[in-house]
Amino acid sequence: MNQPETKTSSESLISERDALKKEIFRAEAIIRENREKINSLEKQIWRCCVHDWKYIGDEDYYSRIRYQCKKCDLYRNQYMYQ
Ligand SMILES: [Zn+2]
Repeated sequence: MNQPETKTSSESLISERDALKKEIFRAEAIIRENREKINSLEKQIWRCCVHDWKYIGDEDYYSRIRYQCKKCDLYRNQYMYQ
């Protein structure tokens, strides 16, 4: 292996890594934005859905949440959607 080849190979590895890092950065930004949008939508859903609660208390014994809406999947805990 001669010197120029090694350099070329390392440059292409670095640029591949940097492209992947950029992709992660963009994906994380999308995840953040989508979480905020979902929070905002769930606040509205909490207020406008005519909730139909089903008991889920047995699914997680240690959770204080006992009910989930059959229509919108929100939990019966107003503090989560304020
Ligand atoms: Zn609902």
